[in-house]
Amino acid sequence: MFDLHVHASPDVVPRGTDDHDAVAAYARAGFTGCVLKAHYESTVGRAAAAARAHALDVYGGVALNQHTGGVNPAAVAACLQAGGRVVWMPTADAHTQRTAALPSLCGVRTDLPAHAYAIPPHAPEAAGAVRSICRMIAEADAVLATGHLDADECRWLLTAARASGVRRILLTHPGYTVPGMAAETAAGLAALGAYAEITAYQLLHQPGVTGAWLAAYADEVGLERVVLSSDAGQPDSPAPPEALHLLIDTLAAEGLDRGALRACASDLPEALVAP
Ligand SMILES: [Zn+2]
Repeated sequence: MFDLHVHASPDVVPRGTDDHDAVAAYARAGFTGCVLKAHYESTVGRAAAAARAHALDVYGGVALNQHTGGVNPAAVAACLQAGGRVVWMPTADAHTQRTAALPSLCGVRTDLPAHAYAIPPHAPEAAGAVRSICRMIAEADAVLATGHLDADECRWLLTAARASGVRRILLTHPGYTVPGMAAETAAGLAALGAYAEITAYQLLHQPGVTGAWLAAYADEVGLERVVLSSDAGQPDSPAPPEALHLLIDTLAAEGLDRGALRACASDLPEALVAP
């Protein structure tokens, strides 16, 4: 198995474990690796250290939030040049996060200027920066993840990314509260050449979500275009490997094919991110 999305400490909010213990747990559980994600730090160096210490395939990247000045090509250049494999469009500082009243960095530090980031069609002035970022991701053959951008932005982004030659595109948990995309919309975007992520975090923490709802979502997208990840690491979530197993068990209990579900949490995500 391979977990495409996990949070560990150090972070700006408490996490269940640090990188070392998180990756050690994957090793014990027989996983081949994971992607370390942080909203406010490049995880490239952390991933390299964890990969070396545990002999697992651990990858990092950068999320384009307020600590990078938002959609900033220089932050992406540095990340990719150092071996980063994933670039997440704005997550915790995306405009959708504000609308949904979810946490952001300037909510943690109210003395910071309140920035929320968007891309076209909502922020046409960001088009040049996004295209430049797409070109760099294409050159590195890295993964473009949509973060918490909404459906209109994802549609614009996928078109720009494909035109720039980006081959690896991930719709970041489209069914979660942010961006709150309907399954039908996610299916349409996935058909343009992206994978749609479904997370254990949704099962554990998203208000109103059930295993049946997630299974219907996965079914509508089609399991060949779905990746399952934990998005775990919260102090009140199960350990990440267990969280991912719980998601698979829950979706299998709803009638989805267990072998196909395992592929969505192993070969498929690892192939998406591995160089
Ligand atoms: Zn996450």
